[in-house]
Amino acid sequence: MIFVTKLLVIGVDGATWKVIKPNLDSLPVFKKLCGEGKSGTIVLPEGEAVISPAIWTTMFSGVPGSKHGHEKYVKDGKLQSRDDIPVEFCWDKIPDKIVALQVPFVIPPFNWNCDYMPPGFGASKDEAELRQDVEGITAKAKEILASSPECAIVCYNHLDRVQHFHWGEDEYVLEWYKLVDSAIGEFVDKAEKVIVISDHGFCGVGEARDKTLPDVAADGQRLKGDHHEEAIIITKGLDCEIKQPGDVYRAIMEMFG
Ligand SMILES: [Zn+2]
Repeated sequence: MIFVTKLLVIGVDGATWKVIKPNLDSLPVFKKLCGEGKSGTIVLPEGEAVISPAIWTTMFSGVPGSKHGHEKYVKDGKLQSRDDIPVEFCWDKIPDKIVALQVPFVIPPFNWNCDYMPPGFGASKDEAELRQDVEGITAKAKEILASSPECAIVCYNHLDRVQHFHWGEDEYVLEWYKLVDSAIGEFVDKAEKVIVISDHGFCGVGEARDKTLPDVAADGQRLKGDHHEEAIIITKGLDCEIKQPGDVYRAIMEMFG
């Protein structure tokens, strides 16, 4: 089979081996990818904030969090936008070769060369809206891959949002992993090389190297899960190794820059 899309990067915010590994029989797409490709654990470096906006920025700019300083979706009462972040992303450098869908370094998540607006502005905790968003992103991803970009980036941030409030409810959390697993399965075979990566893992509150969040969310709901410093990485057909989030940027630039 001849592929037109050379690289597909699938970002799954908050995905952890703690849920995937013991449940591979319920997650056939992850199981297949692990079998066909190389899988491993990324241990985020000490001193770097284990926070979604910071890590996604690093992943696609190659700039460490301690240098770019973008850690929060809202800073000093102002919703941060792409222009507030002092980096050049891979798509700024090779604008015509990349289509990026819903990269969650800002709210709503960032798109490049495509349009998509998530329900609830990409910050919803409503279960129906989250499900609708998984479906919407998957449909858009299929459309993008049908247009054969050289490099496609597709991100899902639902596991992060679900795990904050439901960590420890194993069956409920697994249902969301199954949803993402089958969503990815709809388009993962459309590219020659594949990277599946999370920005960080997950764990109970108090179990992470750094506590990244308060015990109670802004709306009063108690948080049950926190970000863990171990993220997942699976690569298929890739020549280089991804040991840190910034290596994704380097892999893209090496391939297309
Ligand atoms: Zn995250």
